[in-house]
Amino acid sequence: MTAQQRIWDIPGGIHPAERKELSNRTPIQPAPLPKHLTLPLNQHIGAPAEPVVAVGERVLKGQLIAAANGFVSVPVHAPTSGTVSFIGPQPYPHVSGILAPAIVIDSDGLEQWCELTPCPDYRHLEHSALLELIRQAGISGMGGAGFPTAVKLNARPTQKTHTLIINGTECEPYITADDLLMRERASELVSGIDILVHLIKPDQVLIGIEDNKPGAIAAMRDALAERSYQLKVFPTKYPSGGEKQLIQILTGVEVPSGGLPADIGMLCHNVGTCVAIHDAVIHGKPLISRITTLTGEALAQPMNVEVLLGTPVSELLAFAGLDKAKLNRLIMGGPMMGFTLPDFTAPLIKTTNCLLAASAAELPPPPPAMPCIRCGECAEACPASLLPQQLHFFAIGQEHEQLRAHNLFDCIECGACAYVCPSSIPLVQYYRAAKGEIRDLEQKQLKAEQSKQRFELRQERLRRAEEQKEADRQARAAKAAQAKAAQAQAAPTAGSDAPAAKPAGLSDEQKKLKIEASMAQVALKKAEKQLATHATSELQTQVDALRSAAAAAQLALDTALAADPPAPVAAAAPTADDSALKKAKIDAAMLRAQVRKLEKLEAPSDEQQDELQQLRNQLDAAQTLLANLEAQAPVTPAPQAEAAAIDPLKKAKIELAMKRVELKKAEKAQSDEATLNSLREALTLAEQALHAAEAASGKPAPELVRTDKKPIDEATRALKTEVAFARADLRKLERDDNSATDVLTAARQRLADAEQHLAQHQSA
Ligand code: SF4
Ligand code: SF4
Repeated sequence: MTAQQRIWDIPGGIHPAERKELSNRTPIQPAPLPKHLTLPLNQHIGAPAEPVVAVGERVLKGQLIAAANGFVSVPVHAPTSGTVSFIGPQPYPHVSGILAPAIVIDSDGLEQWCELTPCPDYRHLEHSALLELIRQAGISGMGGAGFPTAVKLNARPTQKTHTLIINGTECEPYITADDLLMRERASELVSGIDILVHLIKPDQVLIGIEDNKPGAIAAMRDALAERSYQLKVFPTKYPSGGEKQLIQILTGVEVPSGGLPADIGMLCHNVGTCVAIHDAVIHGKPLISRITTLTGEALAQPMNVEVLLGTPVSELLAFAGLDKAKLNRLIMGGPMMGFTLPDFTAPLIKTTNCLLAASAAELPPPPPAMPCIRCGECAEACPASLLPQQLHFFAIGQEHEQLRAHNLFDCIECGACAYVCPSSIPLVQYYRAAKGEIRDLEQKQLKAEQSKQRFELRQERLRRAEEQKEADRQARAAKAAQAKAAQAQAAPTAGSDAPAAKPAGLSDEQKKLKIEASMAQVALKKAEKQLATHATSELQTQVDALRSAAAAAQLALDTALAADPPAPVAAAAPTADDSALKKAKIDAAMLRAQVRKLEKLEAPSDEQQDELQQLRNQLDAAQTLLANLEAQAPVTPAPQAEAAAIDPLKKAKIELAMKRVELKKAEKAQSDEATLNSLREALTLAEQALHAAEAASGKPAPELVRTDKKPIDEATRALKTEVAFARADLRKLERDDNSATDVLTAARQRLADAEQHLAQHQSA
């Protein structure tokens, strides 16, 4: 045996009765065209296809009726021309007898093809375009697995596939579809292999066929002609057709546990898939039919048929002469890996390679299962070198970790273990159930993990949003603080370098200047009066000096006000209208007092009479203005001063205070004795009136304390004022933590100087 012809053996395996002769003696027959075809949307591994036709729509043979829905999915085409009569749940070929989404076509019997796009010159196509042709033809693995062929061809796009393996083993008993296919369509099969070779450019092509198919072997040898593809024939043993097992037989290389052939640079395709690829590329025909074995002792004419997908199983069985009396079990697939089909109305689909209508004699019901006797026969038979009895125990105990550790997912569900088990334990059923449980759990864990990740991502998003909010808040606060600081810097407090908010109204310095200006005015007025009485040159000189001093004081005040205009008064301060009204009242009162005073003179001079007349005119004008302002003033609740006017006690107190002020003013003005006596009498009367009012009010009379204060001269007043301001400024600076040391020192020195000047003046 040359190196090229060398083959390897696999562990385990069994030799059940082949029974292939039942169906391999006649050529492939065309199955009759059914009236209704049911096309399930999911005839493959992956996502179900998406219908692209509507009920009532006429379709042509080969027309797309459902498009692939995702990467791992394949489209579905109309197997014949006719009308779409239903889209929805229909019987599905499954052991459970479930319904599944499908498109039903009522055949019109015309077999009218849609326009096809053959591509015999495929070698000029881009790799992706050729792959797309295969994808759009709706081809999935024809050996029984049903994995989308285009996906399998593109499983490792960046990895070199050095070995292409063509599976013509068909190791399962009864099934002869691939055998007949190779015998009758070897040239198309080899053409399909050529397309695959063009696509993946392998270093070698190995075609594996069991030695129980001499006709197929001969046909393939003829068809291969001069090609370098290696046809490898090996002894019949079940399950040599398993993908991993065939690779091991042909190459001696084991696919790693849990791995794929692509992981070791190999790709395996079934012979039926190769023919479908040939039809799709060379003739432009999508996958709408397949070769299926109809076999079993319950059939009068077992055979292989080329049958349209969607054909009801019942019609095929009828075509093969089903003897219902003989039928014990209908199996879709072979006796080892197939499943019992409960519903005969279910359609034939892309993965249906056999319908076995078995009699009771050929497939008797299995005897009741007995406990495992640990004979080890199952392990001997296992082609995957597993420990089936251990897997069985772990499956019963749902010990998923142990099942994984014992490579449950390397089990190809060949049934060899169950076939040899003397206890008739349905081992494969346990494995299938355990695999289902584990996959369900994995799905749940995956969903839980995804939910957890979504939750954590949401929490993270919320946390970031909270952080951003806090950062924004801090930025706003910093901005506000900056603006405040800039405002304070722009308007520093008078006499202080420390930034502070500008107070409402006049600054301390302005107040001081205002007081000085007022005092200068008072001194000037007083001197002018004296000059008016005693016109001496000394008095004139004094008046001139005082006028200059008053003008200078007023100028200083005006300059200070212009340099630093007073800040707006607070809301609680009187309004401009209030101030005008108040001023008008004061002006009127002062003029009235001056008029009265002059009116009391017994022999007024001409000048005094002129002055009296002027004052009366001014008083009239002032009273008119006051009347107007009072008329414009809003109506408000009676203020306390007005309330006092109607309160006898308060009125008496005010009257007394006024008399006291008048007397003080007269004393200050050094009025004559008569005037002073008159004012003293008026004060006494006012005191008596107050006592009477107090007695009338019922309130205890206040203890009358009369202080005889010595009149203060202007220089002392000015020095005292300076001391008061200096002290106030110093206190203010001492309360401010930000006051500079040199500023504080200067303020203390100012106070000390002022106090010293006052003391020197008083002691002089
Ligand atoms: S063949 Fe059956 S009885 Fe024997 S060890 Fe395996 S499971 Fe147990
Ligand atoms: S069914 Fe699984 S465990 Fe049993 S022989 Fe086949 S591969 Fe081994």
